[in-house]
Amino acid sequence: MPGPSLPLVFDAPRRGRPPVHLADLDADGRVDAVVGLGLPRFRADQLARQYYGRLCADPAEMTDLPAAVREAVGQRLFPTLMTPVRHIACDDGTTRKTLWRLHDGTMVESVLMGYADRTTVCVSSQAGCGMACPFCATGQGGLDRNLSTAEIVDQVRAAARAVADGELAGARRLSNVVFMGMGEPLANYNRLRDALLRIISPAPDGLGISQRSVTVSTVGLAPAIRRLADEGLQVRLAVSLHTPDDELRDTLVPVNNRWPIDEVLAAARHYADRSGRRVSIEYALIRDVNDQPWRARLLSTRLRQHLGNLAHVNVIPLNPTPGSEWDAAPKDVERRFVALVNEGGVACTVRDTRGREISAACGQLAAEG
Ligand code: SAH
Repeated sequence: MPGPSLPLVFDAPRRGRPPVHLADLDADGRVDAVVGLGLPRFRADQLARQYYGRLCADPAEMTDLPAAVREAVGQRLFPTLMTPVRHIACDDGTTRKTLWRLHDGTMVESVLMGYADRTTVCVSSQAGCGMACPFCATGQGGLDRNLSTAEIVDQVRAAARAVADGELAGARRLSNVVFMGMGEPLANYNRLRDALLRIISPAPDGLGISQRSVTVSTVGLAPAIRRLADEGLQVRLAVSLHTPDDELRDTLVPVNNRWPIDEVLAAARHYADRSGRRVSIEYALIRDVNDQPWRARLLSTRLRQHLGNLAHVNVIPLNPTPGSEWDAAPKDVERRFVALVNEGGVACTVRDTRGREISAACGQLAAEG
């Protein structure tokens, strides 16, 4: 007789390594996998075109694949990585958040946003986050685990498929990817880099999204920023600065104790030089915390010093998070802040915030089932 505790044991989430998926593999790895299944090499290319080109992740739908091998191919190369638990939409159907359950019960979220000129998916790179920024909901729960390359890529593939299938009002084609969901992308470096390659390479090696339309946002892990710069990619880098002085940044972004502002901005400069692209500086504006005119002036001074005209500041009105007393700066304070940064010679705009009422906005992703 099974003891009464059996169902509990059975239901307990097993946090573990995700199964290997086609999107984890490079071209050689795909060939090895199909040859290992006893299939001819050309099947590797065919499967990759199904996945990256047709956005299909289910061999049962791959009609160019012999029916007899679909099951084996599914088990080896297309294990179910994530299952949608629910979709919630707002902004007249132009914003949609999806809660995903991963194979081990871990939960993550991604957010689709349709604009007049682009359609963007905001993806997670980790389940939870270990950076502990006090104003961000994700940071409050700590880090569950890193996502695999395929778990990152499949969020983008699923988003592209949903958009192509007409699931997001007014949108037809996924054009942009931002790593601004859960997690610190540069703390999951190798998997992030491989995911970037799969996202930007043309089919059959990837989804073919333009590098210029992909943004990696980081708290400022300086050595990893330099490493990314030296990969020779041209994706956009966004640095979550939030204040121009180390004293306050040590509390707002605790990793600042390890890599202070000068080191972060020097690494950002290296990235700008290598990629030829301007760096975005993220600044969540918090009432009476980091919204003072002197901080706006110091911000433009330090950015000009390090980055010249290669910085663009994105002010993000603080989104409310559970248990936090902090609030967005009043609109007149925000306008003054933005004007002062611009007057200091650094381009500065306010980011359009989406998804606040469905807890899908910046810093609100907590993946609560
Ligand atoms: N870990 C990465 C990426 C995820 S957060 C990073 O920190 O950059 C994406 C952006 O949302 C970051 O700029 C982050 O600082 C910002 N953010 C976090 N919490 C927020 C909140 N409550 N309101 C507004 N922006 C927030």
